[in-house]
Amino acid sequence: MALISEIENYPGFPQGISGQELNQLMQQQAERFGTKVQRDDVTAVDLSAHPFKVTAYGGEYETKALIIATGTSPRKLGVPGEAEFTGRGVSYCATCDGFFFQNRRAVVVGGGDSAIEEALFLTRFASQVYVVHRRNRLRAEKVSQERAFRNEKIGFVWDTVVTEILGDGRVTGVRLKNVKTEEESTQEADGVFVYVGTIPNTGFLEGQLELDDRGYIVTDRQCHTSVPGVFAAGDVQERVLKQISTAVGSGAMAAMEAEKFIAELEDRAYPERTG
Ligand code: NAP
Repeated sequence: MALISEIENYPGFPQGISGQELNQLMQQQAERFGTKVQRDDVTAVDLSAHPFKVTAYGGEYETKALIIATGTSPRKLGVPGEAEFTGRGVSYCATCDGFFFQNRRAVVVGGGDSAIEEALFLTRFASQVYVVHRRNRLRAEKVSQERAFRNEKIGFVWDTVVTEILGDGRVTGVRLKNVKTEEESTQEADGVFVYVGTIPNTGFLEGQLELDDRGYIVTDRQCHTSVPGVFAAGDVQERVLKQISTAVGSGAMAAMEAEKFIAELEDRAYPERTG
């Protein structure tokens, strides 16, 4: 959410809102009710015993209940030049790097919501944006598709994949291949923005709870994972619709269930207090 330039489909913000601003507002609201935000990178968890252990760079945490909402990371294209030129013209975040593309040409790879929304964002700065998509139809929502088709700065390169990112210290272009004709070509560009899907941030959970074959956390409708007391919310769960509104809904569900789990633990510890 924090990386999205303009969020237009979250209720309550009829004029749209930047992801960063929505992020700050949500944090302020949670803190008003006593949430303590601790910034740290979690490297491992031990869910085999209760209380659970969460290991992070800053230390170890013990917890009675755990909600995992680690989201997803951008999937890489996996072509030559991608790693070499990351940060030197290859980017996964138009919101972060778009400003550096004033009057420059950018290639956007992908045909989903992220690719099209960020291509639109890039037109604020770039002189030309080429959307390279492996099919001849976009996957993105209709409303953004139509806006992109109307935008004169955006050109579409259909049925085409990027086979190499070219550069000389910095990105200078991409090598392309038409998947129908096998024809190869080169497109000059100053930057390449990759939006070919996402992978769940669950590496630190392997062997600890049930993940599906793509690494997403398996949950029931109440956000329970395979380990009682551990819940998952947002994009890290395997879900049909990946939007902020649905993530917020599952966050609310996970929080209620976590609270219920802790209350039941306490009822078992102090049975005389119940009723
Ligand atoms: P996505 O919907 O999975 O789209 C990925 C795109 O990349 C698809 O067009 C796919 O092509 C293409 N692709 C995948 N692998 C490729 C490869 N190796 N080479 C070339 N192209 C490749 O991913 P996303 O756009 O990042 O969105 C992720 C989720 O977040 C989606 O559920 C999306 O709806 C949601 N989202 C929603 C909003 C919003 O509601 N406003 C905004 C952003 C994201 P194909 O089309 O041929 O599969």
